[in-house]
Amino acid sequence: MISKRTIEEIQFATKIEDVVGDFVTLKRQGSSFVGVCPFHNDKNPSLHVTPRLGIYKCFVCDAKGNAIHFLMEHAKMTYPEALEYLAKKYNITIEYDRPETPQEKELRSERESLFIVNEFAEKYFMEQLRNSDEGKMLGLTYFKERGFKEATLDKFHLGYCPGGWDSFTQTALKQGYKEEFLLKLGLSKKSDKGKLYDFYRGRVIFPIHNTVGKVIGFGGRILKKDEKIAKYFNSPENEIYHKSDTLYDLYLAKKAIRQMDNVFLVEGYTDVISMFESGVENVVASSGTSLTDGQVKLLYSLTKNITVLYDGDAAGIKASLRGIDMLLEKGMNVRVCLLPDGEDPDSFAKKHRDSELQEYLTQNTTDFILFKVQILLEEAGKDPLKRAEVVNNILQSIAKIQDNIVQSFYIKECARLFEIPEASLGSKLRSILWKNKSERKKGEQAPAEEVTPLQEVQIREQQQTEQIKPQVDLLYEAEKNLLILLLKYGFYEIVVKDPNAEDGVAPKRVDQYIYDELYNDGLVLQNPLLRKIYDHYAEKAEILKDFGDLQRSFVYSEDKEESQFVLDNLEWDDYEYSDLWEKKYDMYTRYASNNIQSLQQEVESTLLSLKLRIVENQIEFLNKELKREEYEEEDINNIIQNISLLNQCRKNISERLNRVVSR
Ligand code: ATP
Ligand code: MN
Repeated sequence: MISKRTIEEIQFATKIEDVVGDFVTLKRQGSSFVGVCPFHNDKNPSLHVTPRLGIYKCFVCDAKGNAIHFLMEHAKMTYPEALEYLAKKYNITIEYDRPETPQEKELRSERESLFIVNEFAEKYFMEQLRNSDEGKMLGLTYFKERGFKEATLDKFHLGYCPGGWDSFTQTALKQGYKEEFLLKLGLSKKSDKGKLYDFYRGRVIFPIHNTVGKVIGFGGRILKKDEKIAKYFNSPENEIYHKSDTLYDLYLAKKAIRQMDNVFLVEGYTDVISMFESGVENVVASSGTSLTDGQVKLLYSLTKNITVLYDGDAAGIKASLRGIDMLLEKGMNVRVCLLPDGEDPDSFAKKHRDSELQEYLTQNTTDFILFKVQILLEEAGKDPLKRAEVVNNILQSIAKIQDNIVQSFYIKECARLFEIPEASLGSKLRSILWKNKSERKKGEQAPAEEVTPLQEVQIREQQQTEQIKPQVDLLYEAEKNLLILLLKYGFYEIVVKDPNAEDGVAPKRVDQYIYDELYNDGLVLQNPLLRKIYDHYAEKAEILKDFGDLQRSFVYSEDKEESQFVLDNLEWDDYEYSDLWEKKYDMYTRYASNNIQSLQQEVESTLLSLKLRIVENQIEFLNKELKREEYEEEDINNIIQNISLLNQCRKNISERLNRVVSR
């Protein structure tokens, strides 16, 4: 177990903008940051990151939370993994309460075990490549022949798996790693005779990392040319490796992608590595398949611009065009770069100087749609029917583009290339857009198709009455309002009546005022969660001197219910008001009259509303009691007397409330 002290240390060191910024390109906006939300498909900067509170929130999909939540949700880490990530980031040494017992080790989630076994395997393969005779003679020689530099081997954690039968598996088992996990990760296989052997034996190893740099899988390349056995072996899908959500090696490329605001997409391991060696580091590989939704999601919070690099042999190009339409649909700006005949990025990078590669990339990168037009037109030749098909095909791509202005640009270009009037292309495009739209609608509304107009009216009426029904618990609402006020303005001072002061009034902190008021009236909050937060607030306010620290400690509370409440209820839209907190002194001077007074008014009216609600609840309760039959006359008189006292009380409170509100 990670100690409480370490967790607190991590919370204080963590800067939300650093953590979200590791995955999303953020721009400063006033005292906060904005970026494209990675939790839904978007192009606009809907994600707001507020350093003061240590939180992120998306205004579209409502994703929200602290840095730990972000790592858990976006990078799919477990709670301890997120803490470890932050500890590493901020150079914090993790302290454990006590060492793990064997049972606890057993209980640790399977995911974690899989990561640990992979980490062991990666180290083992790296070690073999560098220090074993066989590894040096075969593996290292192979990489040298490919032209990989020493530093590259380390950067990409390249390795070698010995060619014997089960050297790796035996070592792993001896060190206590379980057969079950070795099999699941595809590191070991079972022969027909039930014997375990090394899956990657005699291969060089390309570890595959997730976005935070943990090994999730491996690719193993055979050393010799052998037509009968697959050149590459890859990890099977399992809890930690999902091929379709992985890009090789996004972890290393992330920084450069953000800096260059562009990413090159290539086919595989050696392409990525060779481009890196030539100084192009904003490059990832989809590992054979065409890009998936999941992979695009990883990219689009980093950049909108993607350049697909194509091998010189055109065989694969046509097949991949369709996949690229999907990128347009997601709002990516797609460009393509075709390499010379017979070259792939790996071979091209190896044959040319760094500067030549750079120059080639800049000079030969073209717009995707125009590239597609070229390829398809070449293929269609002079055949008019085929040419018409091409026009249709291209219009389908253009229809996928999200931006109208860009669309009309393409219509203009294509009119020129196809030698067709712009207007007729335009009207054709509109009819495609119209058709796509109605098809989408049909898809969405399929089940509701049979609703008649009359039924529709009935449904609407029903929904309206449901909305009107008072489902809210008024007491809870009143308690909640008070608590929100406490969490928002607790450390601020208002001016309250004070008989000891010279002029009858004195400044007092909002939290002190609220606690005193409730205490003097003998009131406690009824809702258990709210009461818990109320009590925690008092404890924290004793220790913490800074209001921001106090708020953050709620945001980072280990108690999920508690942090959720705070995340749900702290205001997000009143940035101006919140900014004022940081400039407390400004507030007194510049905004003094206005805000102090309204804060004071709000505190008083919220307190009075809560009291009023409590009294009304009691009256209601006693009225119900009166209707019960088991009471003696004396009891009944007592109850009636109480009710009339409470009614008096209610009148007092609501008069005061009216005075406060109309002030
Ligand atoms: P060669 O030395 O014969 O060129 P290579 O290792 O470069 O072999 P290629 O056949 O050129 O492999 O493959 C093109 C790219 O795709 C390379 O970057 C390679 O690493 C990658 N690749 C090939 N097969 C796979 C596979 N099964 N899974 C993942 N990546 C692969
Ligand atoms: Mn190759």
